[in-house]
Amino acid sequence: MSDYTTRVLEQVRAKNAAEPEFLQAVQEVFSTITPVLAANKKYEDNCILERIVEPERTIIFRVPWADDNGKIHVNRGYRVEYNSAIGPYKGGLRFHPSVNLGILKFLGFEQIFKNSLTTLPMGGGKGGADFDPKGKSNGEVMRFCQSFMTELQRHIGPDTDVPAGDIGVGAREIGYMFGQYKRLRNEFTGVLTGKSLNWGGSLIRPEATGFGTVYFAQNMLATKGDDLQGKVCVVSGSGNVAQYLVKKLNELGAKPVTMSDSNGYIFDPEGISLEKLEWIMELKNERRGRIKEYADAFPGAQYFEGQRPWNVPCDCAFPCATQNEINGAEAATLIKNGCKLVAEGANMPTDLDGINAYLQAKILYGPAKAANAGGVATSGLEMSQNSMRLKWSAEEVDEKLFGIMKNIHENAYNHAREYSPDSAGDFTNYVAGANIAGFVKVADSMIDQGLV
Ligand code: NDP
Repeated sequence: MSDYTTRVLEQVRAKNAAEPEFLQAVQEVFSTITPVLAANKKYEDNCILERIVEPERTIIFRVPWADDNGKIHVNRGYRVEYNSAIGPYKGGLRFHPSVNLGILKFLGFEQIFKNSLTTLPMGGGKGGADFDPKGKSNGEVMRFCQSFMTELQRHIGPDTDVPAGDIGVGAREIGYMFGQYKRLRNEFTGVLTGKSLNWGGSLIRPEATGFGTVYFAQNMLATKGDDLQGKVCVVSGSGNVAQYLVKKLNELGAKPVTMSDSNGYIFDPEGISLEKLEWIMELKNERRGRIKEYADAFPGAQYFEGQRPWNVPCDCAFPCATQNEINGAEAATLIKNGCKLVAEGANMPTDLDGINAYLQAKILYGPAKAANAGGVATSGLEMSQNSMRLKWSAEEVDEKLFGIMKNIHENAYNHAREYSPDSAGDFTNYVAGANIAGFVKVADSMIDQGLV
């Protein structure tokens, strides 16, 4: 850390003391960009750090809705419009009881750099509500989404702010919100991404985050002349990202052996094959069941209630559930058991101690900002198709996604090699590389656009 980063970090701590996840995300970025700040005095002269940590706009609103029995509930809705230096605000909506302003600020802050890395013209934003779709009927989810969008529609638009899905927001929720937006605004535009194929969605968007994370892992392995063939993989989560990640691992000859939800994890030593994955997708997406049912359906598999999968020996780990799901001790266990690669499908799944453990062990570590950027990149491709009013084939989109992930890897790799002192010989610090590459483009754009 330099005097400049230390000083601004202290200001951020003083102003945002009640937002630990946000502070964690800022500290992670600041701890890696010192070399580029030292080499370019213009960033300090223009107060770029002071400005980049402050959202351009934060909207907080009441979301009233009635359940199936007519009982009234009130949730809190948010949209953090963080940074529009390189394009309209872009980032997902999260519906989960844990949602609060600090969590959305951490996600929005990360999104700025992630979107910059994709090379597409997208600013950073994030939003959501402390609403839990689990256990709600379709009617209840629809009424909630309609109420949420009734306020949000004033603040978003295809050239202003384009939300997408995240935890708890999938095709169903996007559909209800799009319907309400269209009704209120009387316009059919690409205001949301993650839409269904019949009405403006892009092929491969549901797959993109999981597929992209695997492509990033492939690229990291290729720097060592290695690939995913035969690798035993531990995966957390069983939602959108985890499902398609497990699919792509299978297609590339790897062997995923775990998946999880917030109640526990399943371990299948024979591997979660494509056939078994289909069963899981039906369980999670149609029946909205729990992962523990897998152990009843497939003899040989075990379910571990209340535990996370990081003590299962593996070659590669793919956290795909939520933030801070791997702490320092769990990262150390992964490494001790032989894990040589971690690629993050979830956002900030490893805490700062865990990240330090990966870096000290010099394993291949693809941080979320780079590794899971395929989701938002394909959202960017959905926006392009909507603007041009055309539709690319699955092969075309997948090929573009593959190319984008290759570029993100190259960009992070090259910036790490240029600026990060510990990236030498066999080791590349992708955390530093991704943060620096993402930062420079946004910071330079902010300087170009004056004091706004
Ligand atoms: P989903 O809602 O589809 O799935 C989330 C999965 O994570 C579920 O299995 C869920 O279990 C589990 N989970 C959620 N919260 C917790 C928790 N507190 N503890 C343990 N498990 C938990 O979300 P996604 O798959 O879309 O998102 C997963 C991660 O990927 C998030 O960090 C998200 O920000 C990130 N991400 C998603 C992108 C996308 O395109 N969807 C893009 C980039 C990043 P349960 O069912 O029990 O809640």
